[in-house]
Formats: sequence, C-alpha cells, structure tokens
Amino acid sequence: MSSFAEKMIRWQESYGRHHLPWQNIRDPYVIWVSEVMLQQTQVTTVIPYYLRFLQRFPDLNSLASASLDEVLAQWSGLGYYSRGRNLHRTAQLIVRDHQGIFPEKVEVICQLPGVGRSTAAAIAVFAYGARCAILDGNVKRILARCFGIERYPGERKIEALLWQKAQELLPEQGEKDVNGGIEAYTQALMDLGATVCTRIKPKCAICPLQSDCTAFRNDAVGRLPAPKPRKPMPERETVLLMLMAQGKILLEKRPARGIWGGLWCLPEMPVSENAIEYCARHFGMEVQPLPPRIPSFVHIFTHFRLRIHPHPLQLNLSSSATTGDHIGVERMWTTLADALTVAIPAPVAKLLNMAVASRNA
Ligand code: SF4
Repeated sequence: MSSFAEKMIRWQESYGRHHLPWQNIRDPYVIWVSEVMLQQTQVTTVIPYYLRFLQRFPDLNSLASASLDEVLAQWSGLGYYSRGRNLHRTAQLIVRDHQGIFPEKVEVICQLPGVGRSTAAAIAVFAYGARCAILDGNVKRILARCFGIERYPGERKIEALLWQKAQELLPEQGEKDVNGGIEAYTQALMDLGATVCTRIKPKCAICPLQSDCTAFRNDAVGRLPAPKPRKPMPERETVLLMLMAQGKILLEKRPARGIWGGLWCLPEMPVSENAIEYCARHFGMEVQPLPPRIPSFVHIFTHFRLRIHPHPLQLNLSSSATTGDHIGVERMWTTLADALTVAIPAPVAKLLNMAVASRNA
C-alpha cells in the first residue's frame, strides 16, 4: 500500500467521520441519494434533508413512482433543484432500463443523469467496494497542495493529471492490512478535505500529509490550488468629440438604453471616422481640430475596457452653433463649468475636469 493511502486510512480511523447516516450501509440507492445531496451542499445541511427524503422515498421504486412535485417538495430549501429532478428521472430510468436494480459498473453509473465521474466512483466504492478514484473539489485541493501542482485544476490537462494521480494513490488491490481499504481511504479524502485541508485556513499542524506536502514545505498553501484564470477583458475604443464654440461645449443626451443611458455625454464617434467629415455629416457644422491637450485614457466597465480618445475641435466662425436636428437626439451647448453640474458619466466628468485644468494651466 502506498504510504499516502496508508496515512490517510490510519488518520481516518482515529479522526475521520464514522457516524454519518449514510455510512456503514451498502445500499446503492441511499448512497446515491446522499452523494447527490452532498454535491453542492455541506454535510450538516444535508443530514435532515437526507433523513426526510428517505423516510418519504425509502427505495428506488417509491422514488420512481412519486410525482416530480412530491420529490421537489422534499428537496425544497436544499437548492440546486436540478439535482432533485435528476434523481427522480434517474429512478424512473433505472426502473425502465435496469429492472429497478441500481447499476454496479462505474462506467454505467456515470452515465446516469446528474452523476459525474467522481460521484459515480464514490457510489461504486461505498456500495460495492470498487477500487475507484474520486476527484471532487476537496480532493483536487488536497492533491494540488500536496504535490505542488501550480496550474488551475480545472484546466483539461491538469484535471487529467489529477485523475491519474488520484488513481495511482489508491490503496493497493486486495491489501487488507488496514481496516476498511478503499472505503476508508475514500472517506478519508472526503473528511480531510472537509475538516483539515480546507479552502481557507487549512489546519496543516494536524494534517497527516504534512511531512509530504509540497505546498506546506514551500509556504505555498495560501496560493494553491491556483484560482480559475480570469479571461482578459475585451477592450473597445471610442472617440469623444469636444466640440467648442464661443467658450461652450456640445453635449448630447444618450438613448435611455445602453451604456450611460439617459445621461448627458460628449458626442461619440467611431475611431475609424474623420472628425471633420463626421461633424459636417452629423451636425452640419464646419470644424477645425484644436491641439490635443488631453491624453487618451481607459475606463473600466464590468465586462470590457473602453479606451477613450478625446478629440477637441473648434467650430469655424462661418458655421453656426446649432444643436443639429438629429431625430431623437437631444443636444445642448453649455459652459464647461455648467456641463459638470448635469448628469454626466464618470469618464466624461474626468475628461471635462482635465479640460478645465488644462485651460487654467
Ligand atoms: S499540510 Fe496543509 S496544505 Fe498540505 S495537505 Fe495538509 S492541510 Fe493541506
């Protein structure tokens, strides 16, 4: 037996959980119900639901013949209701396709609705003593820390590596020198992940794996397992026109929907456009560029970054400072000081303040 498995089994004997209501039972039905309930919920929350559920649906046939409403009523408050729906559907499927007998092979169990590879392995271990590896979130955390796996465990390659590791670490087949074998080992992983190698503040001082733990040795416990990498935020670009005439600037009201909905804003122009042609086309105004005094800057929204290029322009004397007649767009000419008193988005306020500062400089 590998020393990893032996340490885990011995630890479980003394410090693991032995009196959970679904332990020391070989009935695959009740083990399946408990494993599904435990998928996203902690043990203490699950226990009363599990007991009530089994009282109402003591076996697979009673669950299969119940209505979905009855099943969901028993599930009410436990959350993630697709689990309850899947249990009901699976019970009916087992009655229909497997003569009401819960399948034994792990490859068949993991095909059942709502049962992934790790849950299927746990059912096979506890119901049939099968030598299968589990790899839920707790186990991924233990293995990532213990073996110093630096990359995010959800990455396909890393997950494959963790499955391989989990398989290699199993107690050796047929070896019975430590009580319980595969069941005690699997329970040990679950218990260690839930009570010692926890996500926050793991109790390394009392951990049976401490002497072998890479993360502990390298002071890396706090950063392993690596969190899910964030996708780089997409960046968009826009030009905000600072159209000046007789000491006033042109603002326009944004449509009610979309970013900055209903706020006063500087007119926006796509970066691909020529500002002089754009102003002639959209506002009927002749303009000339002013020296660019305000640098481009980035404003961060929840889902994207907006690179804003301010473009100062002066209305030609020959052109009149109209508000234009663009259908449905409200516009006004206002002083910079007054513009800062109306409802404007933060980056426009930032830009106008920079304009005021550069004018006073
Ligand atoms: S020593 Fe700490 S980090 Fe390492 S397995 Fe044990 S509890 Fe987890």
